[in-house]
Formats: sequence, C-alpha cells, structure tokens
Amino acid sequence: MDQPVVPHVVFLPFPALGHVKPMLMLAELLSHAGFEATFINSNHIQDRFEHSTNIVNMYCRFPRFQFRSIPDGLPSDHPRSGSTIRELLISSRGESRTEFRDLLVHLGQKNGRWEPPTCIIADGIMSFAIDVAEELKIPIVTFRTQSACSTWTYFHLTKLIEEGEVPFQGDVDMDKTITCIPGLEGTFRCRDLPSICRLKEANDPLLQFYIKETAAMPRASGLILNTFDRLESSMVSELGSLFSKIYTLGPLQGLFDTFAKSPCATTSSAGLMWKEDRGCIAWLDSHPSRSVIYVSFGSLVGLFRDQLLEFWHGLVNSGKPFLWVIRSDSIMGEDGGVREVPLELKVATEERGCIVDWAPQEEVLAHPAIGGFLTHSGWNSTLESIFAGVPMICWPMIADQPVNSRWVSELWKIGFDMKDKCGRDLIEKLVRNLMESDEIVKSTVEFARMARDSVKEGGSSYSNLQKLIEDIKSMSL
Ligand code: UDP
Repeated sequence: MDQPVVPHVVFLPFPALGHVKPMLMLAELLSHAGFEATFINSNHIQDRFEHSTNIVNMYCRFPRFQFRSIPDGLPSDHPRSGSTIRELLISSRGESRTEFRDLLVHLGQKNGRWEPPTCIIADGIMSFAIDVAEELKIPIVTFRTQSACSTWTYFHLTKLIEEGEVPFQGDVDMDKTITCIPGLEGTFRCRDLPSICRLKEANDPLLQFYIKETAAMPRASGLILNTFDRLESSMVSELGSLFSKIYTLGPLQGLFDTFAKSPCATTSSAGLMWKEDRGCIAWLDSHPSRSVIYVSFGSLVGLFRDQLLEFWHGLVNSGKPFLWVIRSDSIMGEDGGVREVPLELKVATEERGCIVDWAPQEEVLAHPAIGGFLTHSGWNSTLESIFAGVPMICWPMIADQPVNSRWVSELWKIGFDMKDKCGRDLIEKLVRNLMESDEIVKSTVEFARMARDSVKEGGSSYSNLQKLIEDIKSMSL
C-alpha cells in the first residue's frame, strides 16, 4: 500500500524578528499537523538561533523540521537595526534570490527525481520567492506579517502618490484627513500613514520597494494574516477583492493553547534572538494587580538620548512602577545612554523600576501585575497586548506602526496615541490616565475575549488554520 504523502512546506520569512517570529509560529503549528517543514533564515538570524536551547527542543519535538540559511546581502558586522534597517530591506533582494532558488532545486532533488516541496509560504515583502515559485511551478502562499489595515494601506501607495497626498509637500498639515483609501475614508490623517509616506521623493527606492513588493502579493494563491476576523473584518473584506483566499490566523500564539494544545510560553520563538531576563517575572510577582506599566519598543526601533530621558522622567513622575526593556543596541547618537542619567532618575528607578535588556514579553503581558503597555506599536506587540487584555500607550516610529497606533486609539479605543510627541509631561499624564481609566480597561478586556474566541475550536482563526492545512494537503495530490 502507498504511504500517504507528507506535505512539505518551505517557509521564507523576511530576516527581522517581527517577521521571523510569526512565521516560525506558523511553521510549528503546521509541524504539529504532521507536515515536513524547512525554515529558511538569513545566515545572520540563523547564527543567533544556534545559541538558543529552544532550537534543540524544536528538533526533538518535530523530527521533520529543518533549518536552512541563505545570505541577506549585508556584511556580517552590519547592525541590522535602528536607522540601518533600510539597507537590509534593499539588500535582501539580490544574492538571497539566487541562493533561495538553488536551495529549492536542491530540496526538490530526491533519489534522482524532481519532487519539489508541496508549497512555499513566503513573507509578503519577499516577492522574489513568488518569481522563483512560478519558475519552478511550486504553489506559494504569501504571509504579510502586518495587520489587514496596514496591508490594505500599502496597496494604496501608488494611489496616494497619484492623488498628490504622498510624499508630503512643504509645510503640509499633518492632521489633514486622507480620503482616497476605500474603506478608510476620513480615518487617517497624514501622520497616521506608514512612515515611508514621509520620504521626500516619490521615487525613493524604499517607497518603490514597498509598492513593488505589495503589488506582487496577489500573484500568490492565498494571503495569510496574523489577525482575527472580528478585529479587522472590514479590512479583511476589502482585501478579499484582491485575494481569492485569505487565512486570518491570529493571534498565532493563541493557537498554541488550543490547536497545538501546548501553552504559548513554550513556543520555540521565545528567547531565540536575545537572552530573556527572567528576573523581571519575580519582580512582577511582588507587585499588586494592574499596577505596573510595561515599556518596550520592540527589536528594531532606537531612541535618541534626549528621548530616553523624556520617557524616563515621564515614567518616574507618573509615580507608577515600571518594567522597561532597553536593548543594549537601542540608544542612538551620542554615548552615555543608560549609564549617564541624572542621579534622581537612578534613585527613583531603584525604588520602583526594573530595567532589562530583553524580556519574555508574552509572559510579561500575561502577568496580572501589568496594567498598561507603552509600546512602539509593532504589529506583534499590538496583537500580544490585545490577546493579554492590556491597554496601550503608543509611540509609533517606523513602518506600519503609525497605522497600528491610530487603529488602537481611534477605532478600538484600547489605548492612547502619542504620535510625533515625546515630552515628559505628556508621558506622565498618559501613564496615569491609562492606568486609572476603567473605560479603556473594559474595552481591552472585551477585545481580549474576542481574540480568545477566535483561536478556540470553531473560532475563525482556528477554522482558517484547518482550512490552510486542508488546502496545502490538496496541493500534494
Ligand atoms: N519582544 C520580546 N521581548 C522584548 C521585546 C520584544 O520577546 O523584550 C518580542 C515581542 O514579544 C514581539 C517582538 O519581540 O513579538 C517584536 O515584534 P513587533 O512586531 O512588536 O516589533 P518589531 O520588533 O518588529 O519592531
């Protein structure tokens, strides 16, 4: 009797943590479903993975899981964070494409026969994967690791340029309302558009990069999003005009509890690139319910020293205990960073603060002591906060973050948006208001409930994952 064919999925994330993490969670979920998985990292990311014990656990749990790596086009000593992220976006096109193609050809050669992988799941900003998939006749599904709303907005960059809205000219009023994105008429001001809209020239390579990458996505046979239907139903249906299949699977970490039946803290993505300081959990244990504000600006955003000091004064003046992630590579500009701060801040921090280099964020957000999250509004952080029922203060900087913070404050009303302002008085006021507002907490708890419903058996994300699994299986018939 013939053995049933085990589907083999190749995963290609964009090489930055905020993209790698959700892709890895998806790869793990499909491994739970019995699929063979090949996860292709950049050499740089793979080097960092190799130092994590989670990798070993993963190989034990999923014997059919393998990592492979390809170059990202940058020298090994390049920082790949802060303002240099632009270089990574552009560089990851050239060499990676050839290496990716060669690797697929190699993976498809089995006992002298061409047995290609069943399917590729590639990041929505790695369009060369679509070119290669078409050439090698391998089905491909695109995974845009942003919200549905941001994805829809990026599809309208060309229209924004044609309408003269972007790039912003001269002394444009940043509060001017944008009207030319269907379904979002009147929702966004200029300042809420993705950060690339602030570039000076329409032909800036970065703006053109996003236009090209986004336009290529509908050539894939489906779109995966880490969101859930009730959170973004209108945007998901707008995207339905471009994609015949959309799999909303968010919050992916919630599916570990329900679909994979393992608590989310054990997903292999935890602590993969930075060593987590678990001492902060013990520190949180000593605090009352909803009393602490958690502060983190993700894996890429950097702070100038004067911004760092404004945040620090604001947090201290709010009088609330705070847990703050300050990555060692996150202070931009002049030296001195965390060490050279005024004595009164140091003293106050010893009394009611805890500063770590990297935290187990999902566990922190789920801790009962956390009452608010001061975030840069990266999509993973936003979704993790929603899932944990924690209201947010948003300080967006780059990419899709300005879109997310607008959604959080105006539409969902589960937080405040500090956009383009970073003063100590404002920070103090917002921290107090957030931690003391019953109304925001109420709506945040309601969104958390919807998120949990979506990943329960029979929920929209749970069902969409089952559908994705069935669709991939049918590709191998
Ligand atoms: N994160 C973490 N510990 C930290 C800070 C961040 O584990 O101390 C994780 C966080 O849980 C999230 C990811 O890093 O999943 C950051 O992704 P996001 O999309 O929020 O922002 P990006 O890093 O892409 O700017």
